[in-house]
Amino acid sequence: MQQTDFLIIGSGIAGLTYALKVAHHFPDKKITVITKAAADETNTKYAQGGIAVVNDLENDSFEKHIDDTLVAGDGLCNQQVVEIVVKEGPERVNELIEWGARFDKTNDGDYKRGKEGGHSEHRVMHHKDITGWEMERALLDAVNRQKNIEMIKHCFVVDIITQHHLGYLITKATPDVECYGVYVLNLQTNRIEKIISKITLLATGGNGQVYRTTTNPSIATGDGVAMVYRAKGRIENMEFIQFHPTALYEPGVRGHAFLITEAVRGDGGILRNHKEEAFMEKYDERKDLAPRDIVARAIDSEMKKTGTEHVYLDCRHFNKEKFTEHFPNIYEKCLSIGIDISKTMIPVVPAAHYSCGGIKTNEWGRSSIKNLYACGECASTGLHGANRLASNSLLEAMVFAHRCFIDCTASLNPSEGGTLHSHKGRLSDKQNSIAPFGSVQSQIPPSGGGGAFPDWNESGTTEPKEMILITQSLKELQLVMSDYVGIVRNDVRLQRASRRLDLLWEETEQLYESTSLSPQLLELRNMITVGYLIVKGASFRKESRGLHYNTDYPGKSDLVQNIVL
Ligand SMILES: Cc1cc2nc3c(=O)[nH]c(=O)nc-3n(C[C@H](O)[C@H](O)[C@H](O)COP(=O)(O)OP(=O)(O)OC[C@H]3O[C@@H](n4cnc5c(N)ncnc54)[C@H](O)[C@@H]3O)c2cc1C
Repeated sequence: MQQTDFLIIGSGIAGLTYALKVAHHFPDKKITVITKAAADETNTKYAQGGIAVVNDLENDSFEKHIDDTLVAGDGLCNQQVVEIVVKEGPERVNELIEWGARFDKTNDGDYKRGKEGGHSEHRVMHHKDITGWEMERALLDAVNRQKNIEMIKHCFVVDIITQHHLGYLITKATPDVECYGVYVLNLQTNRIEKIISKITLLATGGNGQVYRTTTNPSIATGDGVAMVYRAKGRIENMEFIQFHPTALYEPGVRGHAFLITEAVRGDGGILRNHKEEAFMEKYDERKDLAPRDIVARAIDSEMKKTGTEHVYLDCRHFNKEKFTEHFPNIYEKCLSIGIDISKTMIPVVPAAHYSCGGIKTNEWGRSSIKNLYACGECASTGLHGANRLASNSLLEAMVFAHRCFIDCTASLNPSEGGTLHSHKGRLSDKQNSIAPFGSVQSQIPPSGGGGAFPDWNESGTTEPKEMILITQSLKELQLVMSDYVGIVRNDVRLQRASRRLDLLWEETEQLYESTSLSPQLLELRNMITVGYLIVKGASFRKESRGLHYNTDYPGKSDLVQNIVL
């Protein structure tokens, strides 16, 4: 058993920002960052477009960024959280620059600011078309310089430890469920170990791998969300999956698709169908720069009408030199598969890109489980509502990493916290928008759990005979989610998905109970849970709002509500 002071699951922008802050503040404490892959294999590394931030008050304003975010969120954003993220954003970006991240500048030394769909002003700071790579590099360099941070790579977090593991009955109605740390599958030794910590932060990223085509790398399997759901924590708004309209279409390539950033359309790229018609004007007056959900649905509709597997992004009219300067990575990638963007249109297809919902937190990043924080893409803070405004997520991750840091510092050392904020403790029932916690008699032990955490029980399990069964179930899951729970949904499709997921769940639980654990099996299990939560959220939402479009309920309901599971 290992013991640490601050435990962080995930080495993307959210986890590393928080790690650096606590490490600076508590030089004598031990900070442990765990990642199931290499340190930089994160969604963060693949972010292209940049980070939306208001730092040019002559041409932009907080109000405009707030308005743009609220419009994109389609009535479901938490306005207080939107204001927090927009207003605290500039300070967080400055910190990132101090830690060594570089952003593109003009010849006069000012930052270059791009414009993306849904933004009323140019405010997206970027580093060429590899902004995420640059941020991840800077953060990891800063973490490596910090003596009190230990980075444990290739270590798979299986579950968070709560009173459940001490033998107590925990249900959704149990008050004060508490997190004591995690069980991990050490991929070097293949053994399940315990890591105990007073404070745990989940920064486990997104869940794009639940779908057949996604811009997300293979780590994006929704593990944090699934763990919290199993631990009886609150999960919110999972039905809002953002499909990026333009991933590169490469026949035969499954899983991680290469993204063609929206900034290409921001600079003048035009979507065309197979007849080379620019079709976006038929769907929205903002044409190619309409919000992502509208563009993705328009592409979906063109593909369905023409029976084709992709449409095109036309960049032939661009100044080639400017294109290669702003988008060197995209230029090279296209060239590597025989597409010279100055002569040939780029084949593109929508791909699962971003999860707006996730682990429900309050405005300080607290989940509904005590001592467990969540931030970054795995969290549902209230910023995105029913649809994320482009390039708001990196900003949200940094702002909330800071807020988690402030809150846990205050809770460990109350004298520091008094004036920082007033709301503390578990999510209020109002915020949860669900019935108050029930009156089940709490049988749980006093805070701290008593320390007698049992070892993982592997008795009765054997080596899996056929790993291929796991791969096949994964393919089935991705097919079900893409075919029935994709960009356009309806009740029949959701019911079909639900029945198929039930079967996959049953079969996978049997494997889980009877075989020794592997990352593949754990990820499959987590992804089935995430798929179930997406289907459940989509089925409860009897309306079309933001990213959730159900042809049986094409209008918006008067009941504006978050769906908490
Ligand atoms: C192609 C692409 C382009 C994007 N472009 C932009 C953009 O331009 N602007 C913008 O704002 N956003 C963009 N996004 C979204 C943004 O990159 C992500 O939302 C953000 O980086 C998420 O950061 P994170 O720290 O929450 O998670 P991640 O960066 O994904 O990190 C997750 C970490 O958790 C670890 N982990 C997960 N499960 C486990 C487990 N069970 N055990 C141990 N470790 C685990 C992973 O190994 C990883 O280290 C883009 C995303 C993609 C995929």
